[in-house]
Amino acid sequence: MYGNWGKFLRVNLSTGEVKVEEYDEELAKKWLGSRGLAIYLLLKEMDPKVDPLSPENKLIITPGPLSGTSAPTGGRYNVVTKSPQTGFITMSNSGGYFGAELKFAGWDAIVIEGKAEKPVYIYIKDENVEIRDASHLWGKIVSETEEALRKEIGSKRLRITSIGPAGENLVKFAAIVNDGHRAAGRAGVGAVMGSKNLKAIAVEGSKRVPIADKQKFMLVVKEKVNKLRNDPVAGGGLPKYGTAVLVNIINSNGLYPVRNFQTGIFEYAEEQSGEGMTAKYLIRNQPCYACPIGCGRVNKLPSVGVTEGPEYESIWALGANLGINDLASIIEANHFCDEYGLDTISTGGTLATAMELWEKGLLKPEDVGEDAPPFRWGNTEVLHYYIEKIAYRKGFGDTLAEGGYRLAERFGGVDYFMGVKKLELPAYDPRGAEGHGLGYATNNRGGCHIKNYMISPEILGYPYKMDPHDIGDDKVNMLIVFQNLSAVIDAAGLCLFTTFGLGADDFRDLLNAALGWDFSTEEYLKIGERIWNAERIFNLKAGLDPERDDSLPKRFLEEPMPEGPNKGHVVRLKEMLPRYYALRGWTPDGKVPPEKAKELGIEEFL
Ligand code: SF4
Repeated sequence: MYGNWGKFLRVNLSTGEVKVEEYDEELAKKWLGSRGLAIYLLLKEMDPKVDPLSPENKLIITPGPLSGTSAPTGGRYNVVTKSPQTGFITMSNSGGYFGAELKFAGWDAIVIEGKAEKPVYIYIKDENVEIRDASHLWGKIVSETEEALRKEIGSKRLRITSIGPAGENLVKFAAIVNDGHRAAGRAGVGAVMGSKNLKAIAVEGSKRVPIADKQKFMLVVKEKVNKLRNDPVAGGGLPKYGTAVLVNIINSNGLYPVRNFQTGIFEYAEEQSGEGMTAKYLIRNQPCYACPIGCGRVNKLPSVGVTEGPEYESIWALGANLGINDLASIIEANHFCDEYGLDTISTGGTLATAMELWEKGLLKPEDVGEDAPPFRWGNTEVLHYYIEKIAYRKGFGDTLAEGGYRLAERFGGVDYFMGVKKLELPAYDPRGAEGHGLGYATNNRGGCHIKNYMISPEILGYPYKMDPHDIGDDKVNMLIVFQNLSAVIDAAGLCLFTTFGLGADDFRDLLNAALGWDFSTEEYLKIGERIWNAERIFNLKAGLDPERDDSLPKRFLEEPMPEGPNKGHVVRLKEMLPRYYALRGWTPDGKVPPEKAKELGIEEFL
């Protein structure tokens, strides 16, 4: 087999047993790898109804067939598990170097089961795998953990992924962080790792990923890298200003969410844009493994020194979404979220929920304690004070650690939670991109942008410009293609930013040359459709109620955007959703019917 090794590790932390398991090319052809392999294993082995923080939940950490190769951005890995935040599937994805190193060690995945009695870490050096005591690491922040492990193991190659105090304390939106600042951030994968008493995974490998036709692959890689370099976003805006290049673009299009999505235009956007950050704080770019784009930022500021990030979403979540206009405080807050192992989007979203509950008088000073700063819009003190409190579940931080939905529910303001399936939304107001809104509502892991990035066609014009307020079948179909294609890119082990510059045919070329297959673009998209449907089946079995859960906050459906180019618009979800179900081949009530499952070869999971 090429690309994939055809073997993965099964580590049972309850028994201490480590097993090697094999799979064949037939399975790889059906699921591709990574996100695909993971959902296959979960459906086959785990009851979707398990408690996400119980030993019965499985945590699958998996690079893809192109991870560790020279394919552009080929360093990603996925973390797939049942989310403690949503109660549904999550597949959090991270860059950096850890995913490639795991591949160099000869593994397509680590399936982690059970729960260790005491804190442990997993050390992998090629085929040698050890579960080691991590009592001395428990309580450490991410940089301290990495430093201690490097010292202890003493290898230059070592790549580490770990949780911070947030994961240890089961914060519902805790992240897993690798290479210092790269995070598998969303939907609480860090809490699942913490619930297993697993502090870190340290890996070093010495193998080269097997490629079917090395010469052809090199030529294809060269061609795709050139395409990316010549693209104005992948080769221009992203390397120059990072993902924060989006701040001005999204703001000027009137869908940059401000003060918990009350409006779509932020008066201080310019100051905290990629351009503003580059001028004031940037010292260099930081690319992930094999990435010709290099969107990662390294900034320097007096309070925390040299630090990586923040990304567009984090600048927004910790900035405009809270009405905050102090870029230094935002960079600092991002730094501490990484160190404590917190998802920045959900941290910002939860604080924004608290601010609106405060504004509406539902959350009161006596609820949060006398010494706590008031949850007033624009109050940077809230950032300084609460990030640590959330990570350690101290004081009112304990309530915030449950996430925005549970907070809003507790204080009687569910309509002020801006999320889907209990997951806080990212930095695009869907009243300015209605296809993106349908994506939020139907995403398998909840309110997330990255698995259905309709901002591409609706705002940026990739692969071509679509009217953000058109809600016809072309738009719905485009969303379905984006969802299926995203699943293929994740399963391949690539970064979604490659879609600026590369289309579905380009991914087919890379995969075929590496794997030695002769799949058509349609066959790859079919794998993506299989993954999407399998995840949907998992969710339905876990208790997903399409009527309740494929939804959007009331604000987007009933409160027209108050100003700017999208003034007067709401999201017409009710009109799009039935057509989405029909075009997916699902039942009118959003279920995967037997004939669709049969067509995709997943009827055994129904
Ligand atoms: S585009 Fe950015 S996030 Fe993606 S692989 Fe490259 S540096 Fe990493």
